[in-house]
Parts: sequence; structure tokens; C-alpha cells
Amino acid sequence: MHIKSAEFLMSNSDVAKCPKNRLPEYAFIGRSNVGKSSLINMLMQRKNLAKTSGRPGKTQLINHFIINKSWYLVDLPGYGYARVSKSSKKTFQKFITNYFEKRTQMVLAFVLIDCRLEPQPIDLEFMEWMGESGIPFNIIFTKADKLKPNALNRNVEAYIQKMLETWEAMPQYFITSASNFTGRDELLNYIDELNAT
Ligand code: GDP
Repeated sequence: MHIKSAEFLMSNSDVAKCPKNRLPEYAFIGRSNVGKSSLINMLMQRKNLAKTSGRPGKTQLINHFIINKSWYLVDLPGYGYARVSKSSKKTFQKFITNYFEKRTQMVLAFVLIDCRLEPQPIDLEFMEWMGESGIPFNIIFTKADKLKPNALNRNVEAYIQKMLETWEAMPQYFITSASNFTGRDELLNYIDELNAT
């Protein structure tokens, strides 16, 4: 897919205020600092389309971007920021649940995972919840350039094994790097194919 246009459309705290039309929508979500903004900027080849937040966990907004005037890319807030209170964690859960349950035009969510880390309970639990709720998702391993190929393969293989403890099959996954554009064509072509079906 060639990116002809990528524009910020709106930020909402309420899913009811999100765009009303039925363009296909793809959501990006992951722990704070996983590399979500960098990945979005890399995919769209824009420097500052998705802004990295100076106060992670504070900006709980649904950010809509319109791509090639034909589909939405949605930047959801990062989860799992250690310094937020229990009550704001609850609010966040409600907010995310609302988004995924109400946003029926969402084709697929991409759950971002830092390829350097061991499987983290918060991500595993989040994906379990998505599975139980019937929300389609794929995985994106980020920051691939930070590991040598062998270590990267080892980590991805370990992640697959961990997922297979609870899942019958490993969800579709992608390996990306915002630094060297790894995975860009693959991911965009995949979205293109989904949009065409
Ligand atoms: P977000 O909080 O998930 O939006 O994460 P950011 O995109 O702000 O990235 C968090 C940190 O990781 C920043 O310092 C980025 O420069 C760095 N980072 C993100 N993606 C990559 C990547 O693919 N490779 C490398 N080497 N660093 C990355």
C-alpha cells in the first residue's frame, strides 16, 4: 500500500463521538513505551503524526487518523503505566472495553509487544480478555532492531510457546522496527488485503 495521505482527524474520550461512517478501522494498542507512536509514524512515513506523550498513562484518548481517505488508523492509549492509581486503571479498563465492544467497524486490533521483553502478564491478560470477548487481534513485535537475529528468533519463539499455553494457535504476528522500517510493507499490504475483502 502506498500512503498517499495520512491526517489526524479527532481525539475522543467517548466512543460515541468517534466518526459515524463505516470506513474500516484498525486499532493500535500496547503498554506505554512499547513503541506505538514510533511505529505509527514509521508506517505513515510522517515524523510527528502520532505524538509521544510526555505523561504516559495520562492521555486517555481515542485518536483517529484517516489514511488514504479510505480507512482509519486508531491510536489507543498505552496501558500498564506503573504510576497510575487503581481507580484510574479501572476507568481505563472501562474506556477500552467500551471502545472494543461498541466500535463494530473495527476490523482488527494490533497488540504491540516489545520483542526484548519476556511475556508480560499484563499483555497476556489483555489478549486473553480480547479472545474471550471475541475481539479480533494480531500481534506486532516492536523494536526488532534492538536484538540480533538469533536473539529475536529466540524471543519470538518463546512468546509463541507462552501463547500456546492458553491459545490453540498463535495469532498472526508481525515483526517491526521503527528505526529501519522492518515489517512496514508486510503490515501495510496486509491491511490493504483486509480492506479489499
Ligand atoms: P509509545 O509510548 O508506545 O508511543 O512509544 P514511543 O514510540 O514513544 O517509543 C518509546 C521509546 O522507544 C522511544 O525512545 C523510541 O525512540 C523508542 N523506540 C520506539 N520504537 C523503536 C524501534 O523500532 N527501534 C528502536 N531502536 N527504538 C524504538
